Amino acid sequence: MPTDRKDPTEQEILIEEKKTKPNGEVYVRKYIKGRFLGKGGFAKCYEFTCTETKQPYAAKLLPKSSLTKSRARQKLLSEIKIHRSLKHKHVVGFQHFFEDHDNVYILLELCTNQTLNEIIRRRKRLHELEVQCYVVQMVSALKYLHAHKVIHRDLKLGNLFVNDKMEIKIGDFGLATKLEFEGDRKRTICGTPNYIAPEILEGKNGHSYEVDIWSLGVIIYTLLIGKPPFETSDVKTTYKKIRLNSYTFPDNIKCSREIKDLISSILHLDPAKRPNLTQILEHEFFHMNAAIPKALPAYTLACPPSES
Ligand code: ADP
Repeated sequence: MPTDRKDPTEQEILIEEKKTKPNGEVYVRKYIKGRFLGKGGFAKCYEFTCTETKQPYAAKLLPKSSLTKSRARQKLLSEIKIHRSLKHKHVVGFQHFFEDHDNVYILLELCTNQTLNEIIRRRKRLHELEVQCYVVQMVSALKYLHAHKVIHRDLKLGNLFVNDKMEIKIGDFGLATKLEFEGDRKRTICGTPNYIAPEILEGKNGHSYEVDIWSLGVIIYTLLIGKPPFETSDVKTTYKKIRLNSYTFPDNIKCSREIKDLISSILHLDPAKRPNLTQILEHEFFHMNAAIPKALPAYTLACPPSES
């Protein structure tokens, strides 16, 4: 006997977005809630597909119950305000946001290949050509962000998403800030322990764009070596190592003089002595090979590239 009823466990969950047209007419857009993508500090992320356009998105769900404190609401509003103003090939695209009775939903460009965190977990570390390829993309996004006076302040492998075309996309603007004017300094202590810049820990003169450059140095080291340079088993010791700029390159991992030189030039305690983004791209590390590929083949998500 034909049936149009699905097993209740297989039934699709539909999320409805109510919209009001300028003439006052209300219409509803529906999304199929698909697979779970991951969990962050506040948000859970699911794949959503618009029933009308069939366009898939990554949807961040924030329960309204987690937004009762004014600080949490302010933080979300700031994330939305900054992220929705950005549009760049290497920044996770912001589609739009809406709410229903229970949640706030943020619809983002879907990045199906997870983040550099999962890639490093599978691969342990990357070849220098891969590091070149990913870092060139990150620098192009950072140039854009900084030109728009936005400091990300939480750059780390887990916030560097990879889409189906193997392009890097910087995401999660939860700790980002926008400078009011050139020369403005920010004072909030924020970031992720392993990647936090020494001037944020010091907290005396405030901080600016150079904190993202520091985190980029930590990212390059981590992609190359497989673990962050200042990592220890407790946060206090990590902070102490950052303040002393105490890290080494392990002897058992072969790496070029050029990449070591680039990392040490970036991980400078004095923010003013760090190279800027243009100087980073001019560094000899990016000019050792004939050409840096625009994107890597998908098999490198799990296996090293062949050495030819
Ligand atoms: P939070 O701001 O709460 O930390 P995140 O932005 O880090 O939340 O998102 C939580 C998780 O959701 C991520 O670790 C990732 O697994 C997944 N995720 C977030 N954005 C995307 C995206 N654009 N595409 C695919 N997965 C995503």
